Amino acid sequence: MSSPAPPVNENGTLQKGLHQDGRRLTPQRKRVLELFERLGTGNHLSAEDVHQQLVQLEMKVSLATVYRTLRLLADMGFLQELELSEGGRRFELSGDGHREHHHVVCIRCGRTEEFESEPVLAAGAKAAQGFGFKLIESTLNVRAICPNCQ
Ligand SMILES: [Zn+2]
Ligand SMILES: [Zn+2]
Repeated sequence: MSSPAPPVNENGTLQKGLHQDGRRLTPQRKRVLELFERLGTGNHLSAEDVHQQLVQLEMKVSLATVYRTLRLLADMGFLQELELSEGGRRFELSGDGHREHHHVVCIRCGRTEEFESEPVLAAGAKAAQGFGFKLIESTLNVRAICPNCQ
């Protein structure tokens, strides 16, 4: 008799599960996260920004890898992914006390400023409640053109 079959096939859920459990901070992921931590909250970096900084630190890493790393760190909850400008996505540290803020983004250069607004939070909460939804977050992204780009 052959040994019992594994609960799921190797390329299926089992591997996925292991992969998720195995999500840890490899040195490379740690370096990327440290980059954000050094800059502090309120910084919004694109994959290109991060790649450039890593290259300056003499890390040999491709832009594609940086992008994957950023997505993973976002999935793991270390970073928050923002779809802000036409230029693509940016990432920022997600942390306590730095959640409920909104962004004004320059559509030309990607400059991103933060602001807080109680009315926005209240409007989001009211809208979700009105439809019987359970609120997760209310964020407002304002697309604009910064003084330098006008
Ligand atoms: Zn932000
Ligand atoms: Zn601009």
